[in-house]
Amino acid sequence: MAISLFFSANVYQLSMQEFDKGVNLAPDVIMQMPDYAQSGMISTFRNQIQDERKQRYNEARARVLSRLFMVNLVILAGGGFLCYHLARRTLQPIEEAHEVQSRFTADASHELRTPIAAMQSETEVALMNPKLTLEKAKDLLRSNLEELGKLTKLSEGLLRLAQLENNDLHRQQISLGRVAQDAVSRVLPLAEAKNILISSDVPSNLRVMGEEVSLAESLIILLDNAVKYSPEKTEVNISAHKTQKHVVVTVQDHGAGIKATELPHIFDRFYRADTARSKQHANGYGLGLAIAKNIVDMHGGSLSAQSRIGVGSTFTIQLPKA
Ligand code: ADP
Repeated sequence: MAISLFFSANVYQLSMQEFDKGVNLAPDVIMQMPDYAQSGMISTFRNQIQDERKQRYNEARARVLSRLFMVNLVILAGGGFLCYHLARRTLQPIEEAHEVQSRFTADASHELRTPIAAMQSETEVALMNPKLTLEKAKDLLRSNLEELGKLTKLSEGLLRLAQLENNDLHRQQISLGRVAQDAVSRVLPLAEAKNILISSDVPSNLRVMGEEVSLAESLIILLDNAVKYSPEKTEVNISAHKTQKHVVVTVQDHGAGIKATELPHIFDRFYRADTARSKQHANGYGLGLAIAKNIVDMHGGSLSAQSRIGVGSTFTIQLPKA
């Protein structure tokens, strides 16, 4: 607006100067006639011409002024409109990030408060009981220990997410077969407890550029979920193959499955699908898949899921070839 006003003032000044020149310099036989040669009629005619010129000058001035005013008004309105839209577009990702951050903080506080509140109330009730037996006190300690375990798991998850946001990976050529073997061996006790068979079909010569510990962590999360959300005596399979540009790893189970409406949200932090199975029987905080996705993203890959209720789920990791 300042630039536009500056130019408008200059245009106005220049125009006025040119008009002045035009009016004053206009050669006119009548206007230049010596006074003694002027009859009464010529003098009247001369006055009329002068009046006419003055009027035209004023009209031109008003036209220039109104045109400049209109131009500035359009620039103000158009510029304002454009600025508003650009500002909104610029601020939108910041607003979204802010919203995600506040939701995350609210969810984290809620999840932290629940076990703390449970421990507090149980301890208060126990302390108020004058006939508290040793057995009851031990039960209370056991329950508190369980809640503390949950708190530890939650804080580890939160810490891991924060680390992934701030740290760089130390990538090198690694054998995917070894990473998968390591992940399977970590989940095996849980699978055996549910009589679930984990079959692995990952060629040992498949190599990717990555951080071994982090990639193993993401596979453990997927395998752990596959076991957690599958009924007993089913099978979980981990396999991998090469394509032209990628190495693709899939973890497939024949478990509860995820509703199509919930599928887009499962990678959100603290999101837990609304199946009775996931909320009541399988403990967790909805951080696992967010961590796994972060890890895969940091490797320049992608993590996706396909699932059908009652049929099972398949999680696919695509990593760039080494
Ligand atoms: P958590 O398992 O701790 O709840 P995750 O982030 O690992 O958190 O998973 C988010 C949600 O996605 C889970 O609560 C569960 O509802 C759903 N989910 C993940 N993996 C599977 C799976 N293999 N089968 C069915 N549901 C799954």
